[in-house]
Amino acid sequence: MQSSDLKNLNIAVVGAGYGGAAAAKALSLLGATVTVYEQASRIREVGAGIGLRPSTMDRFRQWGIAGAVRKVSSPSDYFEILTATGDPIMKEPWPEIDAFGETTHLIHRGDFIEALLSVLPDGMVRLGHKLERIEDRGDGAVLTCANGTTVEADLVVGADGIRSVVRRQLFSAGEPVFSGEHAYRAVIDVDDAHGMAVDDNLRMYIGRGTKVYLLPLRHRGQVSFDITALCPDATWAPSVTKDDLLKTVEGFDERIVSITRGLDMETVNCRAVYDIDPVGRWHSDSVVLLGDAAHSMLHHQGQGANSAILDAGALADALREADSIPEALALYQATRKPATDELQRISRQGWSEDEVDEVFPGQKPASQRPTSQRTASEPPAAREAEV
Ligand SMILES: Cc1cc2nc3c(=O)[nH]c(=O)nc-3n(C[C@H](O)[C@H](O)[C@H](O)COP(=O)(O)OP(=O)(O)OC[C@H]3O[C@@H](n4cnc5c(N)ncnc54)[C@H](O)[C@@H]3O)c2cc1C
Repeated sequence: MQSSDLKNLNIAVVGAGYGGAAAAKALSLLGATVTVYEQASRIREVGAGIGLRPSTMDRFRQWGIAGAVRKVSSPSDYFEILTATGDPIMKEPWPEIDAFGETTHLIHRGDFIEALLSVLPDGMVRLGHKLERIEDRGDGAVLTCANGTTVEADLVVGADGIRSVVRRQLFSAGEPVFSGEHAYRAVIDVDDAHGMAVDDNLRMYIGRGTKVYLLPLRHRGQVSFDITALCPDATWAPSVTKDDLLKTVEGFDERIVSITRGLDMETVNCRAVYDIDPVGRWHSDSVVLLGDAAHSMLHHQGQGANSAILDAGALADALREADSIPEALALYQATRKPATDELQRISRQGWSEDEVDEVFPGQKPASQRPTSQRTASEPPAAREAEV
């Protein structure tokens, strides 16, 4: 689109998570007027770390914000996979380093969202605006928020996460799907890591039905300690005790058991893990989905947040390249959906058949069964946002 047309565009982004904040940055760089509507009155993130991949860092470089992200992250060269007792299985450099001349950066989720929001102009993000209803008028859309605000926009970007109102009202009635696993996440001091964080490598220890990730956050003197375990309890925010965690890491390296024993349970985020089935169409002529709203995936590939950032970049590119908004939205979907469909698929393959059979004898979790084999009550509706 011509830059004069882009400058006249009025864009509403729903959701100020990683996807919404990145979209706001990328789209405002086109010259469009962008406003972000976020339901929360304060942005909070789970205490945990993630890895920002080279392609993601490359987008930040293009947007002129790589410095803000680098300041609060540590470069990492390798990731390693080990057995539960620490025998090496594989050690590889992070993929994409050669393609982008950049490495993966390890970051605390809270620092990451702060860094993204800090590069947006004051007033661009409107907190306390929970979208209740969206009306697609073809050449624009109208948002109605729970606080009574009504907003008209030429283009609406639904970046409102796994339980997206935009997706469910306009594109797919499907509910989040329970994966049959829990994630327990905490950030601990490096001194409490029993000598397990000695460099900037991400290490994953694999036991039967349990994976333990140690993701160093050297710039903070901390380590993100994450346990993912098969578990049939689909409660969105399950109650989990220290004894439950200790049972989960039984048989792991004694130091992992000691870290677990030392955890302050008040700081441990416990949640059941959900994703969504692929959504057939992400856009109309004036509304488009992005990030988890479009393709929430399980975290076994560590790609959900990264994909949201790449979506934002691809959407801005498509608006620049295409002749109209509808054409741009089709181009955006064609560019991104094949990759995220595949990530959704492989992210569901986090466990071996017999591990799953052991925890779910005779009845696999919903995400590992085709939709046709799920009961009417599955998957249970998610009740609480991750933030
Ligand atoms: C256990 C676990 C580990 C993970 N590890 C990784 C990892 O290592 N690497 C990685 O890349 N990804 C990882 N992810 C995935 C990553 O967290 C998500 O993909 C990412 O947060 C998606 O960003 P988003 O902006 O699309 O959605 P969200 O982060 O969910 O943001 C959505 C925003 O929309 C707001 N919102 C929702 N509804 C409304 C409404 N009605 N009106 C207004 N605002 C609304 C929410 O409050 C929120 O701020 C992990 C996820 C889990 C569960």
